[in-house]
Amino acid sequence: RQAYVNGRYQPHSDAAVHIEDRGYQFADGVYEVVPVYNGILVDEDLHFDRLDRSLAELQIEEPMSRPALKLVARELMRRNGLSNGFVYMQVTRGVAPRDHKFPKDSRPALVLTTRQMKPHSPQVLAEGLKVITVTDQRWDRCDIKSVSLLPNVLGKQAAAEAGAYEAWQVDGDGMVTEGTSTNAWIVTGDNKVVTRDATHSILNGITRITLLELIKAEGYSLEERSFSVAEAQEAREAFLTSSTSFVLPVTQLDGKPIGNGHPGILTGKLRHHYMDYMQTLRKS
Ligand code: PMP
Repeated sequence: RQAYVNGRYQPHSDAAVHIEDRGYQFADGVYEVVPVYNGILVDEDLHFDRLDRSLAELQIEEPMSRPALKLVARELMRRNGLSNGFVYMQVTRGVAPRDHKFPKDSRPALVLTTRQMKPHSPQVLAEGLKVITVTDQRWDRCDIKSVSLLPNVLGKQAAAEAGAYEAWQVDGDGMVTEGTSTNAWIVTGDNKVVTRDATHSILNGITRITLLELIKAEGYSLEERSFSVAEAQEAREAFLTSSTSFVLPVTQLDGKPIGNGHPGILTGKLRHHYMDYMQTLRKS
């Protein structure tokens, strides 16, 4: 397995960045996770748009042009024989003697890796996932996909220790923002699909964006708004989305069963719509 590091393809096992990389010292960088499904980079332009936006918000230069980056991603997939999994891309402000303010003459550092992934287990799809809630301890710019992920790490660890898959983060008003690495959704008693509106409080997931389009195209009713933990616990269904989860049912929140405790019918339909959508994509 190989990795791409600042212009070179290297064995993954000894690929390394400099100890004074600002990503390492300050979490001064951004990343993207682009799903690969049957050899195709899913919604790659939406991911590159979000990467460009994250970089611009932090005034980090683009490390290379989009067509060049697309070629590197494809070449790394080819070298690693990747057909299902994801490409991870990380851009930091680069290497400079440690000093908080932006260095004058650093070049952005670019790393790409790939990871193979197995399909989700039938058990997860049949039983759904447990989710806990944690306080959202993050900053005011969760819309930037920054590598500064300490609250997300602590939240996911708390979930793991509670035997859960994910932690939904809760803001000061008792409203769910999102998971630590996924967007959060519920289905109300009158079959409305609800997910938080994309402000600075959440990362606007690419899976979220695409699923919203599919929901609109299918004519399901939809509300982009905040929901509380109590509303989620009383919801008919719940699910989460991300580039590695696609659409996965949530059947328990803080120990309380959601709906009848089984994966929801509409959730199942939406997962199918999303999987069908990925099947229709063609290589470019
Ligand atoms: N929210 C957060 C905090 C995330 O880290 C992720 C995954 N990158 C998502 C939502 C889902 O985004 P996407 O659908 O683009 O993977």
